This record gives sequence, structure tokens and C-alpha cells, in this order.
Amino acid sequence: MSVFEHPEFDDHESVHFFTDEATGLRAIIAIHSTTLGPGAGGCRRWQYAESADALTDVLRLSRGMSYKNAVAGLPFGGGKAVILASPDAPKSGDLFRAYGRAVDSLGGRYVTAEDVGIAVEDMQHVQKVTPYVSGVSSDQHGGDPSPWTALGVFLGIEAAVSHRLGKDSLSGLTVAVQGVGHVGFNLCRQLHEAGSKLIVADVNQAYLDAAVDAFGATVVAPEDIVSVDCDVLAPCALGNVLNAQSIPTLKAAVVAGAANNQLGVDEDGDRLLERDILYAPDYVINGGGIVAVAREYLGDADADAIREEVGLIAGRLSKLFDASATRRLATNRLADELARSLIRGEATTTDRLSA
Ligand code: NAD
Repeated sequence: MSVFEHPEFDDHESVHFFTDEATGLRAIIAIHSTTLGPGAGGCRRWQYAESADALTDVLRLSRGMSYKNAVAGLPFGGGKAVILASPDAPKSGDLFRAYGRAVDSLGGRYVTAEDVGIAVEDMQHVQKVTPYVSGVSSDQHGGDPSPWTALGVFLGIEAAVSHRLGKDSLSGLTVAVQGVGHVGFNLCRQLHEAGSKLIVADVNQAYLDAAVDAFGATVVAPEDIVSVDCDVLAPCALGNVLNAQSIPTLKAAVVAGAANNQLGVDEDGDRLLERDILYAPDYVINGGGIVAVAREYLGDADADAIREEVGLIAGRLSKLFDASATRRLATNRLADELARSLIRGEATTTDRLSA
């Protein structure tokens, strides 16, 4: 199958394949759109069962970045990178410099940062060979974007709970967090401080132990977290969590989490609506991190300004929830409609949802 016939190909502007013999690097960078600015989005390092899965992932993730950046009102288009993890290509400074040269060869059409499996130190190696990287600063407002992502998700959960459950506090609510990695753990901290009860699952025992120690979280098996009895389900691991098989088993009234590509297919948003489960579209609620890395890259914001900008996520979601209730249209459909009209220059972030 060629890239053009791939089911996730969405007229991406370009898709680039890179290899480096010395380090074993195999990477794909997909630039979905540069209409609003350079394609910006993180780099994921993951051991894919098949290399075809890496292509599927990067095509979906880069389109999601176009939508995420547009809805966040950032002067960036959408791009994403995946590095295929393998024992033949272990993490090293050389590997990330080879990746950085790949990014550099695109001349600024793609700006990279962290995603799953990537740390600030990795991006600091990338920075040695290209300026087209963010998430590298050690300032208070730069570097690891995940605390900012977690803040946006926390505020988004508050907005969703207010809309769906009519409560203005998360105190006493049960939140199931799938994945307590960079974002999930930070989110748990804020939920714990707000008085929520936590149920968590992860495939990494050390992360689970830390969540139990720090927040008194209850642990369930990874296969049980999605259907556990809770008020809010917060997917913070990988994608395709919400699908025709899982949705009928959900007990949560709200799904609001950080993971990208939470829906298997668009119709899964309709399934959630039919079950009266309020879904916070992933790329709307998880935009806090890209706000921080974008501002670090542009050099035009401090921590207070980023906090204010991340705070806008709650209001954006509330508008989406209201529009979804009025139009009986799934929140993901409305968000996609909004994102596409922003990219076409037909809307501003506020007018389209009020229409
Ligand atoms: P991470 O790798 O630090 O955390 C992911 C966690 O999920 C890990 O602890 C991993 O062990 C766990 N996990 C993997 N498979 C699992 C399973 N089947 N069940 C339960 N847990 C499982 O990544 P992160 O940076 O925290 O990102 C989490 C998600 O949020 C990803 O989908 C990412 O694309 C998305 N996201 C992250 C950011 C960010 O700022 N880091 C921004 C936007 C979106």
C-alpha cells in the first residue's frame, strides 16, 4: 500500500522517512499542514509491532497536531515524528543528534519537542544540531511540557464535571487515570489536592507504587481501568482507548484525559454521545503542553502568561459542550469542524462555536 492510499492519509503536505546506519535510527516525520505556520508537534519513541503501525501513528498524530494548534490559536501548523525503538537503535546522544539532523534537513517546516518515550535531555541533544526544537529550556516555563498538559487537563475535567454533573468541585469524585507517566502523574497530584479519589492503572509497577505512596491511589489491572466504576475516566496512556468494544463497558459520566487519538474512529464520539458520556476532545483538552513549547520556541512568554493561556482550555471546552448539547452533535465532530474552519481561515476560535 502506498502512503497515498493509506486510510489515515489526509492530504498531508509531506511525509519523510529517515535512516542512519551508524545509530540504527529509523524515523518518520509527517507534516500535515503548514497553513498556519511551521508544523509543530512532539517526537514519539515507541517499539511498534510493525513499521506500518508507526506510519499509521505518525499520520494520525500529525493531523491531530494541525487541529490542536489551530484550536489553541497558535501560529503553527501540524507535524509529528516517530522514532522506531528497537534494540538495534538504543537511546543515545548520537541517535538524537542523527534525529536532529533529520529535523534540520526540513529547514524549519517541522519543529520538534517531547512526546511519549522522550525526555528533555534527548531534545537537548537534538538542539546541538538544529534550531527547530523546543521543550529544551531549563527555565521554569520551558523544558518538559507535561506539567502544563496536566494543568490543562485538570481544568478541562473541572469544566466537564461542571457541565455534565453540575458540580463546581472535584472533591469526593472518583477519577480513573489510565497511565501515570509524565502527564498522568502530574494530573493525579492536582486531582488529589482537589480532594478526588484516584483509581490508577499502568504497565510500569514503579510508577504505580509512586502513585499509591503519594496519593493513596487504588490500583486496578490495565485491562480493567476503562470500565471501572468512576465519575471521570482520564486516558493518559496511548490511543484507541474508546472504541466499539470498550464504550459499552464504560461507567464514567465524563471522559477527559491527555492521551492523543483516544477515539478509534470518529463514530466512537457518536457512540459516547448516545450513551450520554461527555467526551472532552483529546486535542482540545491536552493543548497545554504545546502552548508551553510554542511560547518557549517563540521566546515570547513567561510562566504567568503560559498559565493564563492554558487556562483558556476550560472555556473552549465549555463552549464545545454547550454547542454539542444544543446541536446534538458529538464533541469530536464539532471540534474537527472548528479546527478545519480555523485552518481554512473561515473562523476565529470563538465565533465558530457560537454560531
Ligand atoms: P509517558 O510515556 O510519560 O506516560 C504514558 C504512561 O502510560 C506510561 O507510564 C506507560 O507505562 C503507561 N502505559 C502504556 N501502556 C499502558 C496501558 N496499556 N495501560 C496503562 N498504562 C499504560 O507519556 P506522557 O508524556 O505522560 O503522555 C501520555 C499521553 O498524553 C500520550 O498519549 C501523549 O501523546 C499525550 N500527550 C502528552 C503531552 C505531554 O506534554 N507529554 C501533551 C499532549 C498529549
